[in-house]
Amino acid sequence: GNTTAKQGEAAEDGDINPFTGRPFSNTYRAILKKRRELPVTKLRQQFLDLIHSSQVVVLVGETGSGKTTQIPQYLVYDMQPQQAGMMIACTQPRRVAAMSVAKRVSEEMDVVLGQEVGYAIRFEDCTSPSTFLKYMTDGMLLREAMTDPLLSRYSAVILDEAHDRTLQTDILMGLLKEIIPKRPDLKVVVMSATLDAGKFQKYFNNSPLLSVPGRTFPVEIFYTPEPERDYLEAAIRTVSQIHLCEPEGDVLLFLTGEDEIEDACTKIRLNIDEMRGAGQAGPVKVVPLYSTLPPAAQQRIFDPAPAGEAGRPGRKIVVATNIAETSLTIDGIVYVIDPGFSKQKVYNPRVRVESLLVSPISKAAAQQRAGRAGRTRPGKAFRLYTEKSFNKDLIEQTYPEILRSNLGNVVLQLKKLGIENLVRFDFMDPPAPETMMRALELLNYLGALDDEGALTPLGQTMSEFPLDPEMAKMLISSARFHCSNEILSIVAMLSVPNVFLRPNDARRQAEEAKRSFAHPDGDHLCLLNVYHAYKNNDEDNSWCWNNFLQQRSLKSADNVRQQLMRIMERMDIDLVSTPFNDKNYYVNIRRALLSGFFMQVAHQERSGHYMTAKDNQIVNLHPSTCLDHKPDWVIYHEFVLTTRNYIRTVTEVKPEWLLELAPQYYDLRNFPNCAAKRELEKVARGKSSHAHEHTSKKDKKKR
Ligand code: ADP
Ligand code: MG
Repeated sequence: GNTTAKQGEAAEDGDINPFTGRPFSNTYRAILKKRRELPVTKLRQQFLDLIHSSQVVVLVGETGSGKTTQIPQYLVYDMQPQQAGMMIACTQPRRVAAMSVAKRVSEEMDVVLGQEVGYAIRFEDCTSPSTFLKYMTDGMLLREAMTDPLLSRYSAVILDEAHDRTLQTDILMGLLKEIIPKRPDLKVVVMSATLDAGKFQKYFNNSPLLSVPGRTFPVEIFYTPEPERDYLEAAIRTVSQIHLCEPEGDVLLFLTGEDEIEDACTKIRLNIDEMRGAGQAGPVKVVPLYSTLPPAAQQRIFDPAPAGEAGRPGRKIVVATNIAETSLTIDGIVYVIDPGFSKQKVYNPRVRVESLLVSPISKAAAQQRAGRAGRTRPGKAFRLYTEKSFNKDLIEQTYPEILRSNLGNVVLQLKKLGIENLVRFDFMDPPAPETMMRALELLNYLGALDDEGALTPLGQTMSEFPLDPEMAKMLISSARFHCSNEILSIVAMLSVPNVFLRPNDARRQAEEAKRSFAHPDGDHLCLLNVYHAYKNNDEDNSWCWNNFLQQRSLKSADNVRQQLMRIMERMDIDLVSTPFNDKNYYVNIRRALLSGFFMQVAHQERSGHYMTAKDNQIVNLHPSTCLDHKPDWVIYHEFVLTTRNYIRTVTEVKPEWLLELAPQYYDLRNFPNCAAKRELEKVARGKSSHAHEHTSKKDKKKR
């Protein structure tokens, strides 16, 4: 039955936790008091009224108003999903947010994380049979929809951070729109931190909107008078100035990625140590925040600032990616430094390159960032660009990710979800036709879709793996190449954050250590060497440390490997190896790599540059490669777009393998004129006589 806000609050104010039967703790009561001060609290009744009368509700509220933590709990008290063995899902675009918020809410509800309240992200399921409130990445919910198309285990789905318009959120919205009429009992809440919620309302058939009134303080905005040449240096300088000159209050600096953030943290600490040595400044706690940071380290952003000394304020200085823009709320921030950049996905369908590129943010993002300074009292935002640049150069809104992505994975997922006609799928913003064509083409070359665009049995199997189509194909084919055990290890290593440590103060030693794992044929094999060495050394922590390897990444590679192995067993794919002393041990592995990544091959031109096969993009081997020579043909895992084009994680391959393993793609009658084509033609001519003999022998055998 429908409950009221009063009833929900009465239950929360009681002595006994209705979900566990245990008495509420004192911590619970302390947190409850804080929760009651959040802006959403006043709207609890209004929210319940709306969700009782409408299947879909759009909810808008400033970051920090309590959407992510409170709304799911309001639904839990109202719907009591656990009584029917159901769940409430709250989706997050970011893994970090899913984990961190689930932890917070488990504390708010006085339960153990992973029991009543849990989370699920790719390769990590922290839930149990008693879980009824599940925070999860939107990608995970999409995966579940593949086996449970009506999401029948959920009584409500809360789509959080909808304004982010990530690829998976957009697909999920389209999917929910199809599910809604088929599941009249399902409730859907779409939550957004920005005010242009009209688009969501319209999309969901004019559903009602609830706006949480903001509770923010004014933020004074400062621009630089002249453009900054080096934003990192300018940012670090600004941190020091704030710390020296401004009254108490924590600092939030937005940077673009792990390396940059760690580098900045080191420099900030050094600078401030110096200032403290000169008796000019109070103590600081410098805290990094990015997605590959382990959960315990992520939690440190919530630590309090150190106490001041001798009248000089102590501060917390958080250096974060745009995770801190809307996903996570850090209380106590008074100063925001915004260099105006973030790493954004870009996709060029013409040359099939998807890459992360440091790009200028949008006006909307700049406003979000500045807003972080006014959470608890009036704040200041320092934009490291000119006002003119803000007005003229920044676009209004970041384009939705679906317009900037390779859609290979999405198309495979949609096909698996039974959506035959992708053109008729109700995308909030339909992707560019060329991008869609490229995705269909990729899946066709991989054998996942037939010429009519229908999912093949191979495509079915590929969709079972939480991997990009190329990786899934490679893994599935690897048994044919007698090396599924090894490809499994390589895929696992490619699925986790970088395993090689490269501390600033020990670069040489780190590089030397890495060289000891190098393989003359390439980086994929180097990764395999690392994985084997890790296992042969009993996964020992100090061994990792001494070899400049990130144990956390290796541990999670091991875990990912286990999970993928289980899927392979379920799919009846043999787990086999070529004997190590067989001369084809590495050849088989390299050929298996090619079975998935034949569309990511580069050829060395006479100039010494590489050019991607067919798309003819000039690229360079990434300096991190362990190759000590420049092979004529390489396969690469990643295209890295910076000031130059790099290919990263590369391994040598043979041109005859291209013709043999991917004849449709390397059909020379249909190949742009270039040096690579001439090479391949030479190989084909030389081969054709052999190939003839080869087939006739085989034919004889068969007979
Ligand atoms: P929204 O989703 O509207 O941005 P949240 O529900 O995430 O807001 O956060 C509401 C409030 O809960 C925050 O302002 C903060 O005070 C508190 N909070 C959230 N997460 C944590 C945490 N991990 N530790 C301490 N407080 C938190
Ligand atoms: Mg939120």
